[in-house]
Amino acid sequence: MILPKSSRLTPDQVAEVTAIVGEFGCQIQPIVGAVRTIYAIVGDEREELMINRLEGLPYVERIDRIQSPFKLMDRRSDLASHRITIGGVTLGEELAIIAGQCTIDPKNPGFFLETAAAVKDAGGHVLRGGVWKPRTNPYAFQGDAKSIDILMEASRRTGLPVNTEVMDEHQVRIALDAGVHMLQVGARNALNYSLLRTIGRAVAKSDTVVLLKRSLHMGSPNEFISAAEYIAAFGNPNIILCPRGTAPAIDGYRNHPDESITPLLKEKTWAPVVVDPSHSVGKASYVPACALAAVAYGADGLCIEAHVSPSQGIGDDPKQALTPSVLAETIAQARQIWSLRRSAIGGPGHIGIARP
Ligand code: PEP
Ligand code: MN
Repeated sequence: MILPKSSRLTPDQVAEVTAIVGEFGCQIQPIVGAVRTIYAIVGDEREELMINRLEGLPYVERIDRIQSPFKLMDRRSDLASHRITIGGVTLGEELAIIAGQCTIDPKNPGFFLETAAAVKDAGGHVLRGGVWKPRTNPYAFQGDAKSIDILMEASRRTGLPVNTEVMDEHQVRIALDAGVHMLQVGARNALNYSLLRTIGRAVAKSDTVVLLKRSLHMGSPNEFISAAEYIAAFGNPNIILCPRGTAPAIDGYRNHPDESITPLLKEKTWAPVVVDPSHSVGKASYVPACALAAVAYGADGLCIEAHVSPSQGIGDDPKQALTPSVLAETIAQARQIWSLRRSAIGGPGHIGIARP
């Protein structure tokens, strides 16, 4: 990783650096951080001669050689000072809330518009709404591209940025063209490296945020963070990790709740962690406790399914969506735990782990 002395390299300097790394079969990838742009060396950067030549350039402050499978997402990376801001909240500074329906019902847009208003009233920062749905049963409702209009209408009415899951390049294009602010990679696609690359490329020169779910089968922290690195490697580090329960499930829960992975993740990566308690436990009555536990474990935010009338919803909403009043109460209690942790541990909430 090349750290320039100034906030970014000039075009001439980029050309010189590109030529040097090119001689060793590498390329550079600019990563635009909040304070300065750094340049990842893509390829095998172990060549001593290449590093020496780069270090000798008068405009290079230093070369960071992080021996990590995820050099950009690593806690020791220069990107550790990067902050992600969306919907008026900077992750790590305040508990971030993403909430809304599992699935937008294109036949009943009114529900989603009402849910959106309720999410805003409850203090949500980002509105979630599934347009395309990954379904186990191929004959079940797969979502409908027309729902993107309902999603964006809700965004206009509430002023909230919106999140939706994308599963292929076509959906990525439609979502970004419509103005979706946060793309979700679902648990089933969390290790679909081709999709991760597609998303990385598509969001590279934008402020779009990616919410990356943890894969279904007890994916290790390293595997999880490496998946984020696939996206970051194209230049946009706005990636949030989202544990959402793993398989095998605890009998009675939808999955095995995994909010306890949060401190482990935070020891390895600077990426914010937003826990999804809804898919973790899979039943509305269990969701509030799981949400509070997640904040106690150091989560920077929560992603919660909510619906104005869960029993009239589709997808996961009848079983796991919170009503607006329970959502508001859960958020209020979660904020108390957040404040408690902050005052007990001190330091930036972004880090969220006790330092020895
Ligand atoms: C969802 O968020 O509605 C969803 C399908 O999530 P996951 O990929 O975690 O199952
Ligand atoms: Mn869902």
